[in-house]
Amino acid sequence: MRKKIIAGNWKMNKLAAEADQFVNDVTGNLPDDDHVEAIICAPFPFLPSLVEKSKGSKLKISAQTMHFEDSGAFTGEVSPSMLQDIGVTHVVIGHSERREQFGETDESVNKKVHAAFNHGLTPIVCVGETLDQREANDTMNHIETQVRKALEGLTEQQIAEVIIAYEPIWAIGTGKTASSEDANDVCMHIRHVVKDIAGKETANQLVIQYGGSVKPANVDELMAQSDIDGALVGGASLEADSFLKLVEAG
Ligand code: 13P
Repeated sequence: MRKKIIAGNWKMNKLAAEADQFVNDVTGNLPDDDHVEAIICAPFPFLPSLVEKSKGSKLKISAQTMHFEDSGAFTGEVSPSMLQDIGVTHVVIGHSERREQFGETDESVNKKVHAAFNHGLTPIVCVGETLDQREANDTMNHIETQVRKALEGLTEQQIAEVIIAYEPIWAIGTGKTASSEDANDVCMHIRHVVKDIAGKETANQLVIQYGGSVKPANVDELMAQSDIDGALVGGASLEADSFLKLVEAG
């Protein structure tokens, strides 16, 4: 059975003391259950402290993006080796906000996925369609293209370790959730695409999250679907109580 992974993406929220308090509140209260993993994707300045505070607990700490190069003249950027060096375990790659506002492309996403593996980081790769694409019936094609490009050149072993987050852009921060059946259909499609690329066994191991207005009130129904293996959560991950409820539902 695939484990469930609940990841809270704080985006550009919180100050250092609030971030530390959250982790203090959460670490002792995570369910003692190997079938569910909990991750917090925090802004760069909080990462060293959160890695330290979460040591010895089940909580993993992730970055929200990174550059694909190891070092060099890239003012303002953070490298995969820096993340590895401070003990971060995961990195979100290709979030729609980064694709839309910061020029990330399928090509840079693929380079970052390779860089993550080269530094022992697990990539959480985001894919998702706009409302226009959904209304034009282009969702499945678009998602297939994003998945194929993101995974290009990876080994089967690496593909089995990637986390894919399906986040329909129109459902992010809008309060609109995809129906659990629609979300599951796309997640199932992603698994078919991965089966075509890397075989059935790899596809069956792949963890596919849903993201977009996930909250305690709708998480059970989403997690009950056959091909949804967790959630990538924005707004509802900012409060410790709410995040713990989501992890318990995983
Ligand atoms: P919300 O849960 O706030 O809709 O955000 C989803 C998201 O973008 C997580 O990465």
